[in-house]
Amino acid sequence: MNADKSMQQSTIQCVNALADAYPDIPVEVIFKEDLLRQGMAWSPEALEIAAEFKRKAYFICSFDMVPISEMGQRENLRAPEEVRLTGGPYHFRPVIVSVRLNPASLYRVESDSGCLVLKVDGETVAVVELQKSPEYYERKLASGKPIADIAPTIEWGYLLYLTTFRLCQYFGAQEECQFCDINENYRQQKKSGRPYTPIKTVEEIVEALEIIVSSNDESKAYTVTGGSITGFLEDKSEVDFYVRYPEAIEKRWPRRWISKVVVQALPKDEVQRLYDAGVQVYHPNFEIWDQRLFELYCPGKARYIGRDEWIRRILDSASVFGADKVIPNFVAGVEMAPPAGFSSVEGAIASTSEGLEFFMSHGISPRFTTWCPEPLSVLGKDQRGAPLEYHVRLLRAYRDMRAKYRLPAPIGYGEPGLGKAVFSVSSFMDVIPPLC
Ligand code: SF4
Repeated sequence: MNADKSMQQSTIQCVNALADAYPDIPVEVIFKEDLLRQGMAWSPEALEIAAEFKRKAYFICSFDMVPISEMGQRENLRAPEEVRLTGGPYHFRPVIVSVRLNPASLYRVESDSGCLVLKVDGETVAVVELQKSPEYYERKLASGKPIADIAPTIEWGYLLYLTTFRLCQYFGAQEECQFCDINENYRQQKKSGRPYTPIKTVEEIVEALEIIVSSNDESKAYTVTGGSITGFLEDKSEVDFYVRYPEAIEKRWPRRWISKVVVQALPKDEVQRLYDAGVQVYHPNFEIWDQRLFELYCPGKARYIGRDEWIRRILDSASVFGADKVIPNFVAGVEMAPPAGFSSVEGAIASTSEGLEFFMSHGISPRFTTWCPEPLSVLGKDQRGAPLEYHVRLLRAYRDMRAKYRLPAPIGYGEPGLGKAVFSVSSFMDVIPPLC
């Protein structure tokens, strides 16, 4: 099946054809990837129901396919963080999907006698379940800041997402990663009136976690992250700024959670400081394997650190954390983004597979975030994402490469396997075989 052919088919025909062509990839996963790359719309009735559940917190970027200014139903304030799809005509095993808003999407959540269902081309795909809002989402810090601003949860409650710096010092089209809307999203959230703290203090994070811990929360991991710091932030370098958070959390609650940090590829002595602070998993995100595209689409990273040095630092960090605890992210599909991306699925898969093989042969397993063409990012203005077939084939390549190098399930993502996985912005955990 090729991409051109898939474009002539209806959405549901395309999914069914891919399910037939690649029977080793569950149909739930194919729908999940399609929802992640195309977004979903909500009917007014469905939104009314959703507003009573855990709402989208905008934990770092927008991950939407329209700006807030074009959301006619105030979806930004009412849509849920994630949906769990089950049952329906395809007999879905539960699969959790991040909500990427797109009022024009052919995928639409509707209310059927008060029950939510996902439809595409008017046909029902699955039943939609929502997650109850945690009790602490209604609580505030002493300063009045909502906990959902300071310490939201994603992955169906598994992960506390602590974006401690909501901006990135790679600034403007010449430096920002071309798929990322972190800076623009910050501006639109502030403009919309959402409480959205640009720099969270260590004290704010600890105060929020005190409240969360006291409310029988079931989170299992936390991520400390934010934009890159190329110079100084509050007189601190990147490592000096970010290391303070796990240090304080681990001092107060040693090993209460799996501790993860997403920052740039840092020199080994700085990586060691993260490890010494109690961080267990390090994410020096690589984004795109192809050298030409890395330089074009991650211009700040390419200029300030450079691709070769980024790779060297990833390998160095494996000697600090252990290879299985170094997990660089790839933005799945962005290597097909116009104007410079691969024009064929074959080319894109071959390139990214080369990157997977390189890291996995060193015991390091990358992971994915399925690209969301955010209109406030440079590449997202043209919203042609990668074809669905690309995503299906990438997951197969990933699963098979992991098997080839006998890699253990990634740490800090919950259980692998369809029906168990909670990771919502890619299906990579859904396609890893379940633990015995
Ligand atoms: S380094 Fe790139 S991906 Fe990360 S926050 Fe900055 S612009 Fe976004």
